[in-house]
Order: sequence, then C-alpha cells, then structure tokens
Amino acid sequence: MNHLTTETFDANARAALQDVQLRGALRNATSLFGKRRLAAARSLSNWEDLRTEARRIKDETLLHLDKYLEEFTANAEKAGAQIYWARDAAEANDIVKKLARDRAARLVVKSKSMTTEEIHLNAALEAEGIEALETDLGEYIIQLAGETPSHIIAPAIHKTRHQIADLFVDKLGIAPTDDIAALTATARRVLRDKFAAADIGVSGVNFGVAETGTILILENEGNIRLTTSLPRTHIAVVGIEKVIPRFDDLEVFLKLLPRSGTGQQLTTYQSLITGTKRDANAEGPNELHIILLDNGRSRMLAHPTTRQSLACIRCGACLNACPVYQQIGGHAYGSVYPGPIGAVITPQLIGLEKTAQLPYASSLCGACREVCPVKIDIPELLLHLRAEIKQKSEIRNQRSEALKPKRAEQLAFKLWAAIMTRPTWYALSAKFARFFQRFIVRRNTITRVSRFVATFAPPLAAWTDGRDLRPIEAKSFRQQWRDRGAKSA
Ligand code: SF4
Repeated sequence: MNHLTTETFDANARAALQDVQLRGALRNATSLFGKRRLAAARSLSNWEDLRTEARRIKDETLLHLDKYLEEFTANAEKAGAQIYWARDAAEANDIVKKLARDRAARLVVKSKSMTTEEIHLNAALEAEGIEALETDLGEYIIQLAGETPSHIIAPAIHKTRHQIADLFVDKLGIAPTDDIAALTATARRVLRDKFAAADIGVSGVNFGVAETGTILILENEGNIRLTTSLPRTHIAVVGIEKVIPRFDDLEVFLKLLPRSGTGQQLTTYQSLITGTKRDANAEGPNELHIILLDNGRSRMLAHPTTRQSLACIRCGACLNACPVYQQIGGHAYGSVYPGPIGAVITPQLIGLEKTAQLPYASSLCGACREVCPVKIDIPELLLHLRAEIKQKSEIRNQRSEALKPKRAEQLAFKLWAAIMTRPTWYALSAKFARFFQRFIVRRNTITRVSRFVATFAPPLAAWTDGRDLRPIEAKSFRQQWRDRGAKSA
C-alpha cells in the first residue's frame, strides 16, 4: 500500500475498485458513521447555528492568526510550556529529534495525530534509531501492517476483523482468534508495557486556546492520556491553524467535532493541558514542548479562497459522505490526507506538480459541503485548484490521459444538458428509464446494470464498473406531488 502516490491516483483508484473486501469494509464503516452523524446532529435543535458559529470563529481566527498565535505562545510559555516554530516538515522533525537526542530517548510513544503523519515523524525517528510506537488501536494496527492511515479518524477503516486477526497472529504470535475483545486485550497488554518504558510521549492537538495557552486533545481510548502524562517529556505537534481565540469557543467545537466524526455526543476523554505540572508530586510530564507547524499553511492563508481550507477540524465527515471515497478508500489518494478535504489540502501542502489528479477526484456533488461542521465549501476549493491546474500548462500536460475529457464523454454531457433543460424531454427520458428498470434490468443491481451496459454500450462501461445505480422511484416527483394534492383534497 505504501508505494501508492498522489501521481498515480487514477491507477490507484482503479485497483481499489477491484478489491471487493476493501469496498465491503468501506461501505459498512462509512454508512455507519454517516447514520450516526445524522442522528447526533438531529439531537441538537441548533445544529445549523453551531455550524455557522464555528465557521465565524474560524474565520475570525484565520483573519488575525498572527495575533492569536502570539497570544497562544505567550500564555503557553507562562504556564511552563516551551514553544518552537517549524517552517516545514524537516524543521519540525529536527526539533523532535534534537529533543529526543538530548534526553537519550530510545522509545517514543505516540498518540494518533494527522500532523505527525504529515511530517512523517515515525520514519524520521526510526532513522535516528529511536522506536516510535503508535498507541491508538487503529494506528497500531496499520503500523503493524506497515501501512499508512486510510481515514482521518479511523485509520484502519479499510481492514476487516478477520484481516486484523490474521495480522495479530502473524506479528504478535497470538493463537488464532477473531474475537474483538481478545484482540483488543492483546493490543492493550503490549502497549501498557511500552507506556511504562517510554522516554517521550508525542501527540497532536485538536485545539490550542490563545486566551489560556491550553491545548485540547480528544480521544476515546485513554491512550492519549497515558502518552501525555506517563513519560517525563511531552511533545505536541500542532498545525498553526489549530489555534482558537477563547476558552469558551471550545463549547461550540466540542459539540460539533465528536458528533460529526463518530456520531458521539462527546468523546470519552478530553485532555485539557495547560503547561507542565505545577507540583512535583502531581501527575503529568516535567516538560511540555509545543511545535507550531506551518508546512504550507501560510500559503493557504494568504489567498481568500484557499484560506477556508484551514478551518478544517479533521472530523472526517466529508470522507464518509463522499461517493468517491466510499468506493476507493483512503490509500488511493496516495497522501496522508484522503477524501475530499485531502484532495484540497494535499495539493496546497505539497504543490500541484505532484497532485494534479487529486482535485479531479470528485463529482462535485456537494455532499462534503453538506456535512462539514465548519461549512467549508470543498467543491469551490476543488474548482479553484482545477482552474490553477488549467492555467499551468506544464502541469496540464502531466495529467493522465484518462482524466482528459473524451469526445464521447463531451457528447454525453451535451445530451444530458439538453435533456435536463427541456421538461418534455426530461419527462420522456424518465419514463424510458422507469420502463428500462422495470422490464429490462428488473432487479436494479450494479451487477445487472453493469452487465447490460458492458454488453450493449461498452464505451459507457467505465461509468458503471465501479458505481452503484440507485433504483429510480416508481412514480415521478410530479406524480407523487399530484397524488399528495389529491389525497389532501
Ligand atoms: S473538511 Fe469539514 S467535514 Fe471534512 S474533515 Fe474537515 S471539518 Fe470535517
């Protein structure tokens, strides 16, 4: 899996579409997350107001980010933390490596953190001979498998229980079992010993509060608490966009983030850390080092359109809602950040030269925008990046042939536009589709439709190979409307 790159997205996606097990695991997980998110959002009567407020807070912060970062830095230092600024991944890794070297560290325990994935910290530490161990269960599983995360909040979303069981048998030498409780207990046993032996704990951060210098880290497993409190040294790697102005602002984000991510009202643990421990006998590390990472974020901040990318709170809801992600999963994107937000962030972080296929990995259906708790207009960002690609002819030439619109595709879109803009044509075509569904396809399953298309219209097979076709309603909207009117009359 690790060989997949952003430059081969098209081929990666085609390979993923052939992986039946992967698609089954994705379908189960993304639909479950989606249903839970919807139920959790409906449990609050002011959900839309909260989204608007969250976006307002983020916009305010990003507009004055320099001021809030200075405030955060001053207050965190006052509380005993040490602050570092890293322009890019190499600088951030160098800071962590130096801190580790100075403390003669041999073992670093890590909590789940997309920011440390972004800078490839594990590889940097391992090159120094320092063991970096993931302690989030999902991250631990993929570290054992030698893979990268395939989802922002559920890194092992692509793996089935049986695959994980086989992995544990192979790597940890346990007796064969696919009992989830037994597998979890095994991971817990291995990790507990490592927590006790670790020299340094490394975490990410969900929010940094400028007003108090506090960092907030959310989790469900308790491993972050152990990572940040058992080792003597805690290093937190934070993207500069994670700062928010006031402590009270957390209330808004604490309602939105868990509900959007996992459908929980609240995550099991919320660790609010303000500086180091005050009392030598108290719990917690002796040292807290906070690394503020830029790594391309200033570039995003500079443009009024791309700035909203930095409002992301990494809930993962847009991945679960995306019809492309649902089919191909995260590895196909070839980058740390997958899905719709990954297709927007990755090109901005590492440049369009290597990522020109990603902004096209979307049907622009808008499902991501609908679910985003901070109302990021991802389709707008995708179109913005596509326009940039178009302007850069040298990049355009690098785009895969498969991504260039084909003549037949252009014709199909023209026909589509003609039908959609003429009510009579639309009604006729809908009647034909209903007839087709009823008498020709009968059971409207992907297998039947794709087989039909492959036999009678082979050029269109690329459209039906990896897509599910939803059944057409037996009655048209107009018919249903008329029926409703007749009933109420
Ligand atoms: S873009 Fe929005 S929905 Fe997607 S991960 Fe970020 S906050 Fe969540």
